[in-house]
Amino acid sequence: MEGHKKPHMPPMMERAEWKDLGDGIYNIASPPVGFQQYVVIGMERAALIDTGMGIGSIADVVKQITDLPVIVINTHGHPDHAGGNAEFAPALINPSDRDVFEQMTTLEFRRQDVARMPGGEKWAEKLQPQGPEPVDAEDGQIIDLGGRELELMFAPGHTHGSMFVIDIATGTVFTGDNVQPMTTALREWNSSTVEDLYESLLKLREKNPTRLLSGHRPNDSAPELLERKIACAKAILDGAEGEKNERMGNVTYIYEYEGTSIEYTPERIHR
Ligand SMILES: [Zn+2]
Repeated sequence: MEGHKKPHMPPMMERAEWKDLGDGIYNIASPPVGFQQYVVIGMERAALIDTGMGIGSIADVVKQITDLPVIVINTHGHPDHAGGNAEFAPALINPSDRDVFEQMTTLEFRRQDVARMPGGEKWAEKLQPQGPEPVDAEDGQIIDLGGRELELMFAPGHTHGSMFVIDIATGTVFTGDNVQPMTTALREWNSSTVEDLYESLLKLREKNPTRLLSGHRPNDSAPELLERKIACAKAILDGAEGEKNERMGNVTYIYEYEGTSIEYTPERIHR
């Protein structure tokens, strides 16, 4: 891959890697750009939160971490989060992202998506097929892993059907693409509004999170990031205007607040 690295691209990786984050939580980074998945270990079951783009085998990596039966949860239906579902039993998904999953995790969609990345064709050859039809999650649903419970919180923002997954015992929250140091993107046909995101963030604050683990690098944040993201969303709702950004003919605005940001289109501010 030498010579193909661009400064704005995260480091490329050939195969998935994992590491122990403590508290029975493991992090998997998967190709080609280190999409972030998580394994949470209970006494009887493990949860796999997101499955990446589906390049190579995530199941092989999960087997290195645990022998327990695995429940898959997708934080949302985007191809870099639900693209590797095929190796597992049907995943839990917020029903509001069912159409996103159906349209954006097809083999053809992901083939086109990875073809745009450096080394594109090589990744396309390693793609898993589309995963099985997901199972509808419920807002507030508790997933019992045996001696450890995860709570699913519907959190419209980045997509209409985004979810926070809360590890009740530790206060760790798996935030998908709603809360991360880099921008929270509300710019696609399947994105919700800044107002929805703001309310989702306030709902999460009530749970007093202790650690925020997101779907993209940098992915491990202290809970104060949530406060900055809330302030960022509030500023936009109060009329602050972000910097205009034009990309492939689409105009978006990026509002920066103390090292984090939200990218939105004008019609996606208020509901
Ligand atoms: Zn996403």
